[in-house]
Order: sequence, then C-alpha cells, then structure tokens
Amino acid sequence: MAAAFFLAGAIWLPARMAAQTPPLRVAVPKAAKAPARPKLIVLLVVDQMRADYVDKFLGQWTGGLRRLVEDGAWFRDAAYPYAATETCVGHATISTGAFPATHGMVANAWWDRKEQKMVTCTSDPDPKVKNIGYAGATPQGADTAWRMAVPSFAEELKFQTSGATRVVTFSVKARVAITMAGHKADAATWFDGGSWVTSSVYGTQPFIEEQAKSHPAKADFGKTWALSLPEKAYWYDEKALGAVPPNGWELTFPHPLRGKSGAGEPDPDFYSQWASSPYADTALTELAMKAVDALNLGKAAGTDFLAIGYSPVDYVGHAFGPRSREIQDILVRLDKDLGNLFAHLDAKVGRGNYVVALSADHGVVPVPEDMQTTGADAGLLRLPELQEKIDKALAAFKYPKPAVARISGSDVYFAPGVYDKLQHDHAAMQAVLNAALEQPGVAAVYRAEELRDRPATQSPTVRAFAYSYFPGRSGDLFILPKPYWLLDSTPPGKPRSYGTGHGVPYNYDQHVPVLLMGFGIQPGQYFQPVTPVDIAPTFAALCGITLSSRDGHVLSEALEKSAARASGPPARAKFTPSSAQETKP
Ligand SMILES: [Zn+2]
Repeated sequence: MAAAFFLAGAIWLPARMAAQTPPLRVAVPKAAKAPARPKLIVLLVVDQMRADYVDKFLGQWTGGLRRLVEDGAWFRDAAYPYAATETCVGHATISTGAFPATHGMVANAWWDRKEQKMVTCTSDPDPKVKNIGYAGATPQGADTAWRMAVPSFAEELKFQTSGATRVVTFSVKARVAITMAGHKADAATWFDGGSWVTSSVYGTQPFIEEQAKSHPAKADFGKTWALSLPEKAYWYDEKALGAVPPNGWELTFPHPLRGKSGAGEPDPDFYSQWASSPYADTALTELAMKAVDALNLGKAAGTDFLAIGYSPVDYVGHAFGPRSREIQDILVRLDKDLGNLFAHLDAKVGRGNYVVALSADHGVVPVPEDMQTTGADAGLLRLPELQEKIDKALAAFKYPKPAVARISGSDVYFAPGVYDKLQHDHAAMQAVLNAALEQPGVAAVYRAEELRDRPATQSPTVRAFAYSYFPGRSGDLFILPKPYWLLDSTPPGKPRSYGTGHGVPYNYDQHVPVLLMGFGIQPGQYFQPVTPVDIAPTFAALCGITLSSRDGHVLSEALEKSAARASGPPARAKFTPSSAQETKP
C-alpha cells in the first residue's frame, strides 16, 4: 500500500518541481571488510588432567597454566558426556568436534570381529603404509588416522582455506599426534622406542630431523627428577598409597633417569622413565617452538594449526595416582614449559594473533587402595574373573567354550555367532547378565541393542554408553563398574602393572579443564556445562569454516562480541574477578 501511494504521488508531481529535485545519491557499495582470522590455532591436550588440578594447584603456578586462567576463558564445569573416557577417544573428540558414536574411535584398541584380534585405533593394515624414524631410527608398524570416520578440524581448515594452512602435531603417543592431525598433515610426530617417528602418510620435516639429532631423549639419561617446590608446598604424603612406579623407580622422590639397572646407557626402562617425567614435556615444547621457527607458523597466508599432546601426566597418573606429589610436581614444570611456549608465540606470532585451547582427554580415578582408606566402597573389578563367570554360565546352555572372545575395558565381545543366538535365547541371556552382576564391583550391564541409534533416554549412563557406541567396533555387552571400582585386566596371580586408570562414565574420568585464550576470546570464568567436543566448533567459528559432523556447539559465551572482531585483532582484556562476573549472561 505504501509503495503504491508513493508511486502515485510521484506521477502527480508538477514537471517543474520534478526538474528541481536534486539527483538521487546512490551509495556506492564498498567492499565488505572480511572478518579478521587468527593466524595460528594452538591446541594443547594434557593427557589425564583432572579439572580439579587447576582448582587445587593454580596458586603454585606462575607460567603458562596460570596465564591461561588469568588471561583466558576458564570453563570450570567441562566434562565428557560419554562412557569411553580413553586417550584415543578423547583426542579424536577434541580434534573433530564429534562424539565417538560419530568419529568411530571408540577406544585405544578394540576387538576386530573380522580379524578376530585386538587392533589399535591407529594401526593401518595397508601394506603401502609404514612408520618412519628420525635420526636413523627404524620403527615397527604402520599408524594412520584411517579408522577415524570424519575429518579433523585441522583437515577441514586446510581444505576449506585453499591449502594455505600448515598442520603440525607432536606427542609421545601415536594415537594422540595422529588423531589431533587427521588423515594427512605437514607433520605428525610421536615417540617410539627411543626416537621421534612419523608415518609415511605424513612424511618427514628437516627441522625435526635436526632436533632429533641435536636434542635426543637419551641426552636426558642420568638426570634426576627431584621436587621443584619446598617440601611443605606438597599436598600429599611422600609415598602415594597403592602406587606402582615405572621399573627402576622407588615409591618416593627423587626419581633418577637411569633405566632399570642404573647402568651406563639408555635401556627400554630409561625411555619409560623419560616418558613418565617432565623432561618429555619439555622436549615436546621445544619441538613445537622449533616448528614455529622453521615453518614460520602464524606468519604465512593462512591460519596454521599447531597441537601438542602432553603425555607424561598420564604415565605419572597411572603409576602414582591423582593424590601424589608426582602429579603436583609435573604440573608445576608443565606450567613453566607452557610459559616458555607462550612467550615464544608472543615474540614470533604476536600476542592476540593466536588462539589457544587447553583441555584433557580424560581424568582418572583415585588408586583403589587409597580410596578405601576413606571407608568408601572401592576396589578392583577383575575382568578375567568376569569373563570366566560368563563362559561358565553359557556352558550350562551348551554354548561353545570359550563363548567370550574378549573383554576390553567395559566392552564384552562374544565369539562369532554367540551374541546373535543370545538375543533370541532369553534364558541364556538372563544367565549371562546375572553372572556379570555377581562379579564384585559391577553396577550394571547394558546390551548393544539398548545403545544403538542414540536412544531417547532419561538414564545418564545409557546416554553415556550410547554416545560411545559405534556399530561393528563397540562390544556386545557393556559393563558399568560401581563408582571408585577400577576395571582391572591383570591376569590372576600376577601383580598389577599400574596404580590406577580411567575409562568409565563417572565424573572423575569425565571432568576435565577447558581453557581458551587469545584471539577472539573473552576472558573470564564460566560455569555453563560444556564439553571438550565444543572446542573444534569454536575454532571453526573463529576461522569461518564448517565442520561436517559436529556434535559440539560454539562456546559463544567466551567469544568477544562481533563489533571488535571485524576491525582486527582484539584488545586484550585484563582478568579481574569483577570482569569475570561481567562476562556471565
Ligand atoms: Zn589419555
């Protein structure tokens, strides 16, 4: 109606007046300014870092961990919502922004039903693929990301921005360096048998060769890991109850890096000690800083990607448990390494040009013997005994023995044909479930058909197992232990080779830090419940790319408001308790 009236008015306008009307000013469209992008994405994943380590030990940190909290966005209620809280699973989740039900990395290793053997998440049977060693090393095996069913964030970034992105990852563990990188990368490097190695699908880099030769792990032979703070600064007893230290180490500090025998040269035990020490964290940090220098990361046309998987905290946690001086001390030293890393990035890439995320792949349960001192119900869920009970129950129904092919973590795999038969044999299935529930420490048993296709459910544990369920790879039955009961696969009569572990849907395994800092990040403390699966979608939002199969969401509460974004790198806000309050909606 308004348009018709206006047109009619124009027609009736006297000709003279129309001639005097000044010409219309047509705005010439200016080229829209593209949103600014970070020059470098830095992903830091600390293996087995519980969220409460930040709360407990922050006051003792002065370096990079402290800076992440003070200058960054600290998500204090971050937790994995799925059951399979293991290393390969967590790193693939952070890397892809998807749950294991989507990315398919359901465990560090699983039972391959076709091959009838255990396979690791990165083992690649392709005869054309092989691992390659730096500095003359000749590693075994072939590891790639071929089993990861979706691309990583880094792969998507490189693909969607015309290949200008360089992707570089480092870790002690293959399953970490590989899942963080994706199917291809400019460098994905891990540690095996005393050397840095990679796979033929990634290829080698001259700067890593140079570092492997000039600063080999064996150069740390003979060093001693001693307490770095005054003794009264440590929370726990000098001897962690129930600890199982690496070969050649005592239960108490100091821990000498001299192998098992204390002999004159590096042996396999020395390399285990090294990987369980702060020296390995420092070596990873140095490699990352070399990568920044050699490849000019953050200085080229695209957004580059650098990821470090800090593995030693995991080895230390498995050996000494979360209530140990070893955990407290290795974090003090990691804080220093990260301080050095950020100082290097400030100098080379520029403060405000890079964005960092730090998280963990899972937490850890206290050592059962330690937990028992509180009077709590805690113990060892002995999986070999459970397997025997199930086999025995099925023998009564004339099933072939052994009916169970493998129990791996929570997953029970039956021999070929057995589970298909059980699904139509209610009496035998009930006998199996009853037998499993008789094993001390078992809280519940779930069947695969309860978890398929992400069922709508009110049960947080069914939902957790469903988020981890990937058809063909996951087990037939799933064992939920009681809280504080450790899944233990130690053969009967053998001593346990570790103090404690992780891998179940309880908060001690699921609750991990999520910290973001730098380009586009609004500092503060955030208590919204989030998960590490949200990191990749947040990176994707900052870089303006799309993830195909994400299960996470953008951590929008910690992003600077868009007005600041379009006009270049953001001003850095200083952390204060009051500014933290203001960031909450
Ligand atoms: Zn791990």
